[in-house]
Amino acid sequence: MPNWTVYAGDLAEGTSLKSASAPSSWTVYTGNPVKNKPAEEDIPSVISYVPQFGHLLCNPCRSVVPFKTLHYHLRHYHKIRTLFCKAIVSQYEGLSVSQTDADVVPLPGGSSPLEFLASPERGYFCPHCDYTTCNWDVLLLHFRETRCSRERKTRDDLSCVLQRWASVR
Ligand SMILES: [Zn+2]
Ligand SMILES: [Zn+2]
Repeated sequence: MPNWTVYAGDLAEGTSLKSASAPSSWTVYTGNPVKNKPAEEDIPSVISYVPQFGHLLCNPCRSVVPFKTLHYHLRHYHKIRTLFCKAIVSQYEGLSVSQTDADVVPLPGGSSPLEFLASPERGYFCPHCDYTTCNWDVLLLHFRETRCSRERKTRDDLSCVLQRWASVR
């Protein structure tokens, strides 16, 4: 599941996710840093550029949207008029941002949750590879279908916190 981004390890029971939030240096810049002019007034400000990762972020969804699916996402998910979609997309043309889903890779295990993404969720990890999922049954399936072994670990042993780049598609 490539869209899971962060395997943040265990949260102590009762620890709020907020206390594990990203440092304040994670800044999300709105608008186009290259052309450096404010977006036209009638264009809804829905997309931010996240320079640390080279991703475009859809603010209402709190999801990363690759450049090549940006127009489709705005048009079909948010029902934004084609004219506005084109105007928004053109702001990010030629910018070095993720182009397809393949460019949106998970962060290494143990990374801090990112505050601009949708909230982290309870998930599970494989102790042998970097496989993670939010569904326990899917992890059990992973053990059956791969050489990875559960090693008598309990469900609690294998639980972790996951956050993904994309909450919608
Ligand atoms: Zn969106
Ligand atoms: Zn595995």
